[in-house]
Amino acid sequence: MKAWFEPLRRNQRSQKWAQRARYERQRQCFEALSLLQRYIDRELDPDEAEAFEKHLEACRACGTELRVYLDIKSSLAERRGKSDQDAASRLRQFAMRLREQE
Ligand SMILES: [Zn+2]
Repeated sequence: MKAWFEPLRRNQRSQKWAQRARYERQRQCFEALSLLQRYIDRELDPDEAEAFEKHLEACRACGTELRVYLDIKSSLAERRGKSDQDAASRLRQFAMRLREQE
């Protein structure tokens, strides 16, 4: 009886774990996202910047987002006047995309 009961429990536990891991990853992405703008503007504390970079090494989605932001920033520098509206809406879209993945 124990023999078939145990694997089931282990399976349930690992499902919970996967759920938690997914949630944790998402939480880290939201955190990274909240630092992104200030990271680009070099306004982060060294500790914050290090945590941010560490997350980016492991997270392709946020790494892509950073590249997009850097592109936006350099194109803003080229033709000034275009508002931050684009950046803000991109950020919102990215956050939505993260939520959809869940
Ligand atoms: Zn991320």
